[in-house]
Amino acid sequence: MDRQVQIALTELADTLRHHRDMGVRDVSLGGDYLLPPDAALAAQERALQGCRRCKLCEGRLKIVFGAGNPRADLLVIGEGPGADEDAQGLPFVGRAGQLLTKMLDAIHIPRDEVYITNAVKCRPPGNRNPESDELKTCRQFLDAQLGVIQPTVILSLGSVATQALLSTKEPIGKLRGRLHPFGSAVLIPTFHPAFLLRNPGKEYRVMAFDDLKLAKREYDSRRTK
Ligand code: URA
Repeated sequence: MDRQVQIALTELADTLRHHRDMGVRDVSLGGDYLLPPDAALAAQERALQGCRRCKLCEGRLKIVFGAGNPRADLLVIGEGPGADEDAQGLPFVGRAGQLLTKMLDAIHIPRDEVYITNAVKCRPPGNRNPESDELKTCRQFLDAQLGVIQPTVILSLGSVATQALLSTKEPIGKLRGRLHPFGSAVLIPTFHPAFLLRNPGKEYRVMAFDDLKLAKREYDSRRTK
C-alpha cells in the first residue's frame, strides 16, 4: 500500500478511536476526518454559520466558534460568549479574557499555544447562564471540536461548563482541585475568570492557581504534540 495512504489510514483510525473514547457513537459521513486540524475546524465553523438550532440565535450578533492552536494539547472551555465576544466573534476577548491570558501566563503557557472555546457558541441574552437545552443542542459542536483537536488536557472554566461536561450538578467548589478522566484526556475544573473578577479575594485566586498548577503538571506530562 502507498505509504501516504497508510499514514492517512492510521491517522483516521486514531481519530475514530478518539471519537469512540469521547463517547461519540454516530459519525457523519459528511465529516472532515481526513482534513488537517486547521481545515477541519474551519469546515466546522463554516457549517455552523447561520445556525438556528436553539433560541440563542435570536439575540446573537456573531457565532463564537473558538480560536487558537488547532493541534493544542490544552483545550480551554468557557461558558458562553459575552458582549465583547459576540461583537468580535472571538472567545475570551473581554475583561475575563484578559484575566484568562494572565492565568495561562502564570503557568508559562502562551495563549496562542492552546485552543479556547465555549460550551455554547452564541451569547446568552444579558449574559445569563446558558440553559440546559442550549448546552445540549450545542454539545455536538464541542464534541466535533474535541474530535479534531484531540487535547490531552481540558481546563474547564466555571460551574456551567464543568457541570455540562461532566454531567453532574456538583458545585464547582467540589469539582475543582482534582483531575476528572474525560475520554482519553483529563479534565481540570477551575473558577471562571469572570467569577474571579467579581470575587477579588485572595482565597479564590489561590485555589485557581492551585488548579492551574495541576493543569500545567498534566500538560507537561501528557504533551503529545
Ligand atoms: N466568558 C466565557 O465563558 N466565554 C467567553 O468567551 C467570554 C467570557
